[in-house]
Amino acid sequence: MSGSESFVHEPPVDHAELLARVRFSLDQPMRVSEAALGQRAETFAELRGMTRSSCVRVTARLMPAVHGAVVRACANLLLPDEPEVYIAADPQANASALTDGSRYFIRLHSGLVQLLEPAELQSVVGHEIAHATMRHMIENPENDREATFALERRRAQEISADRVGLLAVDSPADALRAEVKVACGLDARHFTADLDAFIEQISTPPDDLDSEWEANSTHPTLALRFWAQRHFMESDLFLGLKGAHAQPCGRPARPFDEVEREIEERFHGVGSSHAFRATADHVHESLAWLGILIIAGDSDVSRIEREVLVEFVGRIWADDAYAYARRHGLPAVERRAVETLSPLRFSNQRARRRVEDSVRELCKRVDAPGRVDDMLRLIQRAITP
Ligand SMILES: [Zn+2]
Repeated sequence: MSGSESFVHEPPVDHAELLARVRFSLDQPMRVSEAALGQRAETFAELRGMTRSSCVRVTARLMPAVHGAVVRACANLLLPDEPEVYIAADPQANASALTDGSRYFIRLHSGLVQLLEPAELQSVVGHEIAHATMRHMIENPENDREATFALERRRAQEISADRVGLLAVDSPADALRAEVKVACGLDARHFTADLDAFIEQISTPPDDLDSEWEANSTHPTLALRFWAQRHFMESDLFLGLKGAHAQPCGRPARPFDEVEREIEERFHGVGSSHAFRATADHVHESLAWLGILIIAGDSDVSRIEREVLVEFVGRIWADDAYAYARRHGLPAVERRAVETLSPLRFSNQRARRRVEDSVRELCKRVDAPGRVDDMLRLIQRAITP
């Protein structure tokens, strides 16, 4: 995997890769058990039936403007098939996506459609598509610790979905204006095109915010979301995807890695205690990063090697880690491996042995026995305090 430059700037080939590239680093793909998926499929069928019989479906014939917004959002997001979209009679400016992990549909409240111009609506449609196709699903936490983690995860998912909303519009200002409108419920008559006054208001330093309250929310505060989007818009990743090399103000694009770290930091500042991640999560995630380091070690990743990694960590993790490597290069992958491995120092020896055994097995499968020692040293370094 040499020549990381070309790697970073190649355009994404499809919707899945586009999403994998912009997914917020703290929004890790969810792994849902088969049993839970089965249950979801049932609920999904029921809710879809209810929606179909009580809401109006958006079609080109019936609602050309709204339908046009859906079509344009899909085109911008490299999504070949447009989703089922329904309008529910509800004055609250809201929207939702429902998925069972493979199928999905979107519900837009009439209040939202009344409030937004079609160009602005594209961002909401894109945001909801992201929740569905990134498989953001509601969790049923079993205890307080899990609940805190689930909330943090949901807030991280909003950051990802907002980015996709930005990519779904033709001009980023449409997405930002949509958010301001939804936040205050006022339509275009009450606004100028100048969002600076609002930006000033939300530029409050983070310590000014009530972080405990923030930590118990399913959504990040508007200030944080807006701030995160504006940072994302300065990144070479976003500008590259939009075919630009510099920011509209003329300043050069900022490296995405740097921007992402700032957003992570601010995101982690929410709440007095960070959510804990289960050891199993760490083992799994570590393997995805180490796997990439192993298969990319000879500077060439074959299809077979990628399939082996998929076998080890699942397709979502494998694709995400691979896209991350393409975006940031291998040194960044190594940093992430160390980050994910380091909490394992607090867990039992079994977790560490699982990672080490898997590394040996993976090296064997991709015929890279020479990588074993390097990887074991990396693990040792990461989990030694
Ligand atoms: Zn959302």
